[in-house]
Amino acid sequence: MLEVPSTDDLTDDTLSDLSAKFETASAGEIVEWAVERFHPHLCLTASMTDAVLIDVATKVEPAIEVVFIDTGYHFPETLATLEDVRRRYGLNLRIMTVPHTPVPLWQSDPANCCTAAKVFQLERALVGKLAWMSGLRREESSTRREAAIVSRDRRGLVKVNPLANWTDLDVEGYVADHDVPVNPLVCKGYPSIGCWPCTRPVTQGEDVRAGRWSGLDKTECGLHDELLR
Ligand code: SF4
Repeated sequence: MLEVPSTDDLTDDTLSDLSAKFETASAGEIVEWAVERFHPHLCLTASMTDAVLIDVATKVEPAIEVVFIDTGYHFPETLATLEDVRRRYGLNLRIMTVPHTPVPLWQSDPANCCTAAKVFQLERALVGKLAWMSGLRREESSTRREAAIVSRDRRGLVKVNPLANWTDLDVEGYVADHDVPVNPLVCKGYPSIGCWPCTRPVTQGEDVRAGRWSGLDKTECGLHDELLR
């Protein structure tokens, strides 16, 4: 049986020190640390806006588990990007599917739709894991400005955001330099892409995530709970 590595040494203070140290590390170095510490008890969640973190992470560990939560409400372009990325990288892909409901949850129960369609699926994906990674970046919105590179989530798992301090220009540069797949909706004014009922294009000067749940008093779906503390 696979031995589960101990994380007893990773106190909150240690994680905070690591996070500060990683401010000057490359995303690849941060992923290397996470892979050395946690793989295979580690996964990466992807929204398929672009494949930057997937490109960085699979260069470190090609077999890293990539989780995509298929809410059932994605744009066709997002599902096409998922397939492109899966083929390009030969991903160890785990698609979390949401039980079908006769009336879409975003219509019948919009207040709980994200919890049922996203957060519950993430909970399932994280069973047996010690840590997970996301491509969350501080520049995306005001709610993400304080995001740490390494922290602990409410489950007690280690959360790693290797791109936390990347700017939009950093992402554009990496995409160009490494020919990384990008969701075609990005070029149509959707710099942050979620489910189609809850995503609109943004206008110049708006936050990257201004098109998510536009008009509602909501900025996060609840996946990144460490932002809400
Ligand atoms: S983003 Fe909208 S459609 Fe998608 S899970 Fe959340 S509420 Fe439902």
